Amino acid sequence: MDAIAVLNPYTGEEIGRVPRGTARDVERAVQAAREGARQMRALPQHRRVAILAAAAQRLTAEAEPLAHLLTAETGKTIREARAEVARAATILQLASEEARHLHGETIPFDALPATEGRKGFYVREPVGIVGAITPWNVPLALVAHKVGPALGAGNAVILKPAEQTPLIALQLARILRECGLPEQALHVVTGYGEEAGDALVTHPDVPFLTFTGSREVGMQLPARAGYKRITLELGGNSPVIITPSADLEQAAEGIVRGGFAVAGQLCISVQRVLVQESVVDALIRELLPRVRALRVGDPRDEHTDMGTLIHRHACDRVERDVQEAMAAGAILLTGGQRLGPTLYAPTVLQNVPRQARIAVEEAFAPVVLLMPYTTLEDAIALANATAYGLNAGIFTRDLEEALTAAQEIVAGTVCVNDVPTFRSDLMPYGGRKQSGLGREGVRFAMEEMTELKVVSFRL
Ligand code: NAP
Repeated sequence: MDAIAVLNPYTGEEIGRVPRGTARDVERAVQAAREGARQMRALPQHRRVAILAAAAQRLTAEAEPLAHLLTAETGKTIREARAEVARAATILQLASEEARHLHGETIPFDALPATEGRKGFYVREPVGIVGAITPWNVPLALVAHKVGPALGAGNAVILKPAEQTPLIALQLARILRECGLPEQALHVVTGYGEEAGDALVTHPDVPFLTFTGSREVGMQLPARAGYKRITLELGGNSPVIITPSADLEQAAEGIVRGGFAVAGQLCISVQRVLVQESVVDALIRELLPRVRALRVGDPRDEHTDMGTLIHRHACDRVERDVQEAMAAGAILLTGGQRLGPTLYAPTVLQNVPRQARIAVEEAFAPVVLLMPYTTLEDAIALANATAYGLNAGIFTRDLEEALTAAQEIVAGTVCVNDVPTFRSDLMPYGGRKQSGLGREGVRFAMEEMTELKVVSFRL
């Protein structure tokens, strides 16, 4: 079988090899997962609860080696990697707690004259086999967001992790098995998206697909998947509005946190900062020293604030996009340089033309754009002038402005006095427009991964 080399994006070294899975491997996984689905369905709920809780504890116990593996695979800093391991443990713990409460309800049939004389209830049944496809940028926590709820709801799972980050996904699968998960309940098929991924998407015996990744790939999937249920968590181009009443210190801190975490490679990175004209200069005064203070470099170093982009091409792309925006009139306030094969300086651009590629597309790089506006109405129109609709934010002390933005911005989440990079793993999370279909967040994912069945007794 062919192998895929896994590379460390910072050092360029090979850190492992995994099989290049094919449609035949997906077929074998589906055969085995049928038995896995049967076993999971038969497993009492308290056993699923216990397995997930034990796996959460094991993640915590093994946090340090797992964090180092994450840093090696992704180039995110060791501090970011530790936070991701802790987050994955929280997600599995939440899945364990939700699994205990997953149930249906009684149905008041006699509330309608036509169905009087009946008693009944509905239950939540597992869908059977869940196909899960995940990206490289948050490769442990986002796998946990799919596998945890799927197993908690009593399903088997076939996971296709991103080609760049299969090793951390395999570690999670090992931990779950060591914590008592039936062997056939979770299969990891490593490989390329167009090969192993597509085989999973198109397989007729995988009734539910959950995908996190780019808009370009995600939007093709419903047509490829055919008749199956599908959840899509796609990209973003998150706006944050800075009004004249905003606490600019708090806003600047948030922009730095949300714009440069994981080198800007988060679906909810701060990308477009929409600043009211009268506070542009004051915001710049708060923002630039904080951006310039970021330490960029070796992600293994405890003092590094920002690590690498995932590969050279990502660095080539941001270099091109920044130069293109500057040629079209954008002003470079800081950054704008390549610092190594995969390192790009934290960058702030001002007055980026609204049609520039970096303003329209998802930047997925350490670049924050400052765009002036006049009225709140303009700002909201600008916030909505994108194909995406994942998260958005507004900094204001004015309640009416906050409520107007919350009501008018088309997004899955609107954060008031916070950057759009905010997410809690227990909230419903997902996008509007081309940012996705359906919702994750443990309870909501678990509900999506079940089928309702009504049982009615005619008396
Ligand atoms: P991607 O290129 O779309 O890949 C995501 C996953 O899909 C990978 O496992 C990939 O496999 C697989 N894939 C690629 N082509 C496929 C196909 N034709 N059929 C089936 N699967 C296929 O995205 P990425 O570059 O890994 O991740 C970055 C993107 O994810 C960004 O757009 C980001 O915004 C988005 N994201 C969204 C969220 C969210 O919650 N909304 C969270 C994180 C990231 P290979 O890698 O092996 O090709």
